[in-house]
Amino acid sequence: MVVANWKCNGGAQLVRSYLKGFLEIDGADVVVCPPVIFLFQLQALIRKNVALGAQDLSAFEAGPYTGDISSEMILECGGTWTIIGHSERRALYRESEDAVLQKLQAANRVGLKTILCVGETLEDRRSGSAVEKVLGQLDILIQANDSALIKNLSIAYEPIWAIGTGETARPSDAQSMHARIREKVSCLSDTLGDNLRILYGGSVSADNCGSFLKEMDIDGVLVGGSSLNVSEFEKIVRICSTR
Ligand code: PEP
Repeated sequence: MVVANWKCNGGAQLVRSYLKGFLEIDGADVVVCPPVIFLFQLQALIRKNVALGAQDLSAFEAGPYTGDISSEMILECGGTWTIIGHSERRALYRESEDAVLQKLQAANRVGLKTILCVGETLEDRRSGSAVEKVLGQLDILIQANDSALIKNLSIAYEPIWAIGTGETARPSDAQSMHARIREKVSCLSDTLGDNLRILYGGSVSADNCGSFLKEMDIDGVLVGGSSLNVSEFEKIVRICSTR
């Protein structure tokens, strides 16, 4: 599985380049998450293994929440996925664990599939508390006590110090974190843990994605900067499709 996260980037030109240049590649599930304003225009991309998603959503169904986009609205625009709890939202908009859980529940109410982002800071890693931090971000799943929430869930492990920096985790370090994540989710349900897709994110490129994908518990990648160039993104999809 490969997810493109355009963040607050792109415009008519990038939309056109995806519509013109993105070829169908079998063997990998692809989710393109542009700013929601472009979802309508990108609907022509949707096919068996290509879906659209949002980068965030409102925890509320509807009402006086200026600037929010609800899960129903995402569905209406052709989005069937949403990213939740990206580190940029947690840091810049002070999203709490409670808010992240409410958003997971809001997405789940209408059947949107979710990609929950977790990850540690450089400080956490240096102080030896990376695993504790990341596994702690999964406690909301235990708190929710709702297997439907996990059924629609994928997890993206994104070390914060690797996002947009050109630095990546060592594939073996990412693998051990993914294994711990799977182990924790398996405590809720063996089957859901086995089937859970865990993606790595953090400066993924066509050059480095193969080294992550050969690890046993790395089921795909979440791609930020490299998704802003359709031919680079397509190379990543092609590499994923052969794993
Ligand atoms: C991201 O958007 O979550 C991300 C990992 O970005 P980048 O690939 O640019 O590091």
